Amino acid sequence: MADRIYNFNPGPATLPLPALKKAQEEFLNYRETGMSIIETSHRSPEFEGVLEDTKSLIKELLKVPDDYHILFLGGGASLQFAMIAMNFIPEAGSADYINTGTWSTKAIKEAGIIARHNVAATSEDKNFCYIPEKFNFDPNAAYVHITTNNTIKGTQWHEFPDTAGKPLLADMSSDIMSRTLDVAKFAMIYAGAQKNLGPSGVTVIMIQDEFAKTAREGLPTMLSYDTHIKKNSLFNTPPVFPIYMVKLVMEWIKDQGGLEEVDKINRKKADLIYDAIDGSDGYYKGTAQKKDRSIMNLTMRMENEDLEKKFISKAKEKNLHGLKGHRSVGGIRASMYNAFPLEGAEKLAEFMQQFKKNN
Ligand SMILES: *Cc1c(COP(=O)(O)O)cnc(C)c1O
Repeated sequence: MADRIYNFNPGPATLPLPALKKAQEEFLNYRETGMSIIETSHRSPEFEGVLEDTKSLIKELLKVPDDYHILFLGGGASLQFAMIAMNFIPEAGSADYINTGTWSTKAIKEAGIIARHNVAATSEDKNFCYIPEKFNFDPNAAYVHITTNNTIKGTQWHEFPDTAGKPLLADMSSDIMSRTLDVAKFAMIYAGAQKNLGPSGVTVIMIQDEFAKTAREGLPTMLSYDTHIKKNSLFNTPPVFPIYMVKLVMEWIKDQGGLEEVDKINRKKADLIYDAIDGSDGYYKGTAQKKDRSIMNLTMRMENEDLEKKFISKAKEKNLHGLKGHRSVGGIRASMYNAFPLEGAEKLAEFMQQFKKNN
């Protein structure tokens, strides 16, 4: 579609055109019901079908083991920061956190409001440009929490830490479904949908049954995972439309050939841009340590802010939008989630070379 931009926005982010079109097609009259899916009861067979299809697609694509519950909750990934600590840090207990950037820092702050916790490692000393390799785990910690992809700092865990049997919990908001994954390594995975899964408004959670059973009792009903597990995410009205959109995005991933294929294309896209950075004789400077570079959010700096500003505005003239780095770090960030097309990465790599020549 000629009027669609190359959308490098970090989230909400670009979604697959076929999923958007399907939603448009079905929007006014969902499967001959004479109404939209968003006008349908969340207890209707139609919506239950949507919910079950979404779950089974996620299970199939990520090969989620049978002893995991899949939940769809509101409140964003940010609510999970608090819910996790409330549910899983026992009274007088503690939890371990690895701090790799802005979102980990927020998760740690929320845990700190609720309970004791230990920062087992941090890369704050170098402005979070790397993923730590040494951890100071507390033997009594109830779990270890990581952020698998650091959306703002441009780093990503490519190998996960060995927690010596401690439950590993992960915020995967910005790289879920971008690669194949051994879900069994994690007691819990959660992700706000608006980067790789669909629109904002729903958080997808995978939680292992045995681990879920360790949750504290006596919490407010809505803040207890047990409530949502028992009611299959239907304790109250769930985010109906976002869940429906996640289903369409999962169908698109399946049509692409699943996560192996999506992973391959994501790497190709990232290689194009990192090669352009590394081949620029320092004109573009990657901000993340090479071995920890993110495949999803590629961050770089240029000689000065004026040049960066010019880069961003000239890129926009070429239909390359959303390249401004997060306001807290500045610079340039190309977010290229699953739905971002390979062609857009080619265009950006080309533009980077052209811009360097002319400036
Ligand atoms: C965007 C993002 C969040 C915040 O998600 P909300 O759904 O807006 O609360 C949390 N963690 C990571 C890694 C993110 O990229």
